Amino acid sequence: MEILNKMPKGAIHHIHTSAAPPVNIYLSLTYNPIVYYNEKEKIFRIYPKGESQKEDGFISCVEMRNFYKDPKEFDTHLTNEILLTEKESKGLASHDIWKYFQHKFTRVTELGKYYKFFKTLLQATIDSCIAQNVFVVELRHISGIIFDDDRKPMGLMEELKIVQECIDETKKRQPYFEMTLVITGLKIVGKPHVKKMIDHIHIGKQKYPDLISGFDMVNEEDYTAQIQEFMPQILAAQMDESSPTYNMPTFCHAGETHDKKVHNLHDAVMLNTKRIGHGFQLFLFPNLVEECIKR
Ligand SMILES: [Zn+2]
Repeated sequence: MEILNKMPKGAIHHIHTSAAPPVNIYLSLTYNPIVYYNEKEKIFRIYPKGESQKEDGFISCVEMRNFYKDPKEFDTHLTNEILLTEKESKGLASHDIWKYFQHKFTRVTELGKYYKFFKTLLQATIDSCIAQNVFVVELRHISGIIFDDDRKPMGLMEELKIVQECIDETKKRQPYFEMTLVITGLKIVGKPHVKKMIDHIHIGKQKYPDLISGFDMVNEEDYTAQIQEFMPQILAAQMDESSPTYNMPTFCHAGETHDKKVHNLHDAVMLNTKRIGHGFQLFLFPNLVEECIKR
């Protein structure tokens, strides 16, 4: 790994905001007394103003750590809660792995929503990329997430401002560093959410035309709606000449399944996707393989 880290690399074209930060950064946040954990629900929460905001079932991680004879034991426990462990993946069927995998994101998502931590985690991601000689990063990002000390949403523009600041500050040290956002919708949340993400591209691009590179959607393909369900929304955005979403590139997650009844890959190619996320199902469709080679 040490040698691989040092090797120059072109770019990371597929990385997610919440999955990208190194686990030790997540862990270091739990030393801040405003970070709480619910052992039953298995979810982190941030209460910037402490106990007055706290909901039932949540205990400060700092307090929980004190219950352990060896604090490292608690840290190992949290690390295993955050990472996908061997027990949760090795030898299991895809759907069983997804059951653990999906929850890992739900678990940590709030840590990245508090505006101060959002910046800490983003900067850690950037630094980690640079340490591995990656200077071009495309970050898949579910936008409009950050909240303030009162846990009130701060809005998309404040969030994009933080992202732009992180990039600008990094560029002072590493002039060749580049990062863009692929705004990503969750299919599982449904059409209004996906529309919100497309609207974010429409609004965000007006102030930050180069920060947002395109659109994508995620979730376990075998068990969520296919891309075609969202096709009218995506096409409407791409065909709206008056909007910055006009001809908006897509970077579709597709073909991350062995089920031949799932045809997200076909939809992705019809959307002229610039890249395909995973796509290992492609071998089931020889005609589509030809089409992808051609493109
Ligand atoms: Zn992905």
